[in-house]
Amino acid sequence: MISPETASIEPSLKGPHLTSEVVSDTLRRLLRSKFGFQSFRNHQEEVCLKVGQGKDVLLVMPTGAGKSLCYQLPGLARGGVTLVISPLLALIEDQVEKLSKLGLRADRIHSGRSREESRQVCRDYLTGNLDFLLIAPERFSVPGFLSLLQKRKPTLVTVDEAHCISQWGHDFRPDYRALGEHLEALRPANILALTATATPMVQDDICKQLRLNQESRLIHGFRRDNIAIQLMEILPSQRSSMIESILKKESQRPAIIYAPTRKVAEQLHDELKSKLKIGIYHAGLQPSAREKNQNSFLIGEVDVIVATVAFGMGIDKSNIRTVIHAGLPGSIEGYYQEIGRAGRDGKPSRAILMHSYADQRTHQFFLERDYPETNFLRQIYGSLSEDKKPTELIKAEVLPQFKTVEVFEKSLEKLRIHRGAVVDFEGNLSKGVASWEKTYMEQKRHKEKMAVQMSHFTQTHSCRMLGLVNYFGDQKDEGTPCGVCDDCDPLAGASPLRTLTREEQGWVAEIMAILSTSDGKAAGRLHKEVMDNAPSISRTEFERILEVLAKAEWVKIFHESFEKDGKSIPYKTIFLTTRGKKAKADELSQLKTSAAVSAPKSAKKRKTRFKKRR
Ligand code: ADP
Ligand code: MG
Repeated sequence: MISPETASIEPSLKGPHLTSEVVSDTLRRLLRSKFGFQSFRNHQEEVCLKVGQGKDVLLVMPTGAGKSLCYQLPGLARGGVTLVISPLLALIEDQVEKLSKLGLRADRIHSGRSREESRQVCRDYLTGNLDFLLIAPERFSVPGFLSLLQKRKPTLVTVDEAHCISQWGHDFRPDYRALGEHLEALRPANILALTATATPMVQDDICKQLRLNQESRLIHGFRRDNIAIQLMEILPSQRSSMIESILKKESQRPAIIYAPTRKVAEQLHDELKSKLKIGIYHAGLQPSAREKNQNSFLIGEVDVIVATVAFGMGIDKSNIRTVIHAGLPGSIEGYYQEIGRAGRDGKPSRAILMHSYADQRTHQFFLERDYPETNFLRQIYGSLSEDKKPTELIKAEVLPQFKTVEVFEKSLEKLRIHRGAVVDFEGNLSKGVASWEKTYMEQKRHKEKMAVQMSHFTQTHSCRMLGLVNYFGDQKDEGTPCGVCDDCDPLAGASPLRTLTREEQGWVAEIMAILSTSDGKAAGRLHKEVMDNAPSISRTEFERILEVLAKAEWVKIFHESFEKDGKSIPYKTIFLTTRGKKAKADELSQLKTSAAVSAPKSAKKRKTRFKKRR
């Protein structure tokens, strides 16, 4: 039952001319009495006030900042039902449990519940027996569900993890796509969209799709002072032993290790399980195993978890000391989201990003896997008609033209996302819109661009946190360097440095000599020319040496790209800086590279030369 306190407050927030003071008082009282919090955290009050006054808000605040309260408190204060749309069953269950523990009337409808349970929730909804109703977005495709909601419209609608609505976001979900239309039918309820990760472009998209006006945006607090970001250039083969040595120290745990693929996650788990108390989590595991492993990490039975990006959305564990990326993430959005899980308790924590030139090739592979050739999608689209046909039938029809079942499934998924195929609740397919091809190509290019931006991040030489803050367009940020990342404080970094070996110094000399006669060379070309005199330098090593030179400000690397067959192909041009032009041979010994990268094996003595060739 609704408490007398809520009941007495409720009508006061329904009047048309509420002053901020009235709303503010009510919110403050409920904050203490219902949620047991003494005060608001940064920005919460501003948001609750806006939402409490019936305005739409897009709120972008980092994970752990306390976004949920921003719907719970004003929702409760205003009375009626708050409808919450959330992408994952686990998140829904978690929220319902928390709300119920506070004595609030919260329930949920999703595919994990029985028909009878769902019916009961619908009845409770209609009779006004709920404060919060949580659903997954696909619920809207169940016939009759929207009209049920319309019979007694919610007061407030919350879209959690709202970046999922944007195809420019890193975690796009097709079921979020049509939300804008559905929610329009629930007006005048105001909409609160919540996310921890949205670039200005994703913010635009969320606003457009949910039909929120520009003034509704509140973008706050991307800076995380207590996370020391460290980049570590290290070959994939050396990562597991490096992880072991980092996480051996108790102060570095609990820790999450993000692996780029399930396979790498399995590998790392195998290699580390005898050395650390480590669990594993990825989408290839049975749901029950996933849940068990996640739980044992949450309650501390294991204090390390190696996982793919499938892990962590909405995970509320405040004492994570280290997040390690054992490979380059696919986008800066994803990366930021993942490192944001470190140190939510405000205590010092670390985010270590392991990368090497080889990771870029892995990305190319992912892109090809996740974004099949348009031709494959055309095959499926061509086999669809206005009449619904079972998916299995379509599959049997076109499968012979596909390389593997996975390619078929990926292609169908993409076609569906871009609405070229329509799937009903029973899994029947029919033909969708022809514009799928355009949006698919756009998205594919966008993904490529995001991967390129991520690899640029590893090649910049300025404060890491500031780089991220600027990327997200946090306007209120003061713009100062963080002081704790490996760029601000190299000595605190996870990757100690070493001087270059004689052979490496020889490579540098070679590069400098070539550039001094013809500056501004493309990296690939430069590598080839260096190999003329130093055949032992691999591309990976060459890239690493370039990084060393860029860091020492001897060269400047410009990132460019050209279009080929509809793909954007990135490349780099290398220029000598004024500093580089003046560099002398005896300064070679001052150059430093990451100690995590072992020196090349063939330690041939070379004569270092800076003079022009010929
Ligand atoms: P987000 O959704 O932004 O990632 P949550 O809403 O899950 O974050 O909140 C993170 C944690 O902070 C939760 O444990 C929540 O109870 C707590 N919290 C939120 N607001 C406050 C507050 N005003 N005072 C104290 N704790 C709070
Ligand atoms: Mg949340």
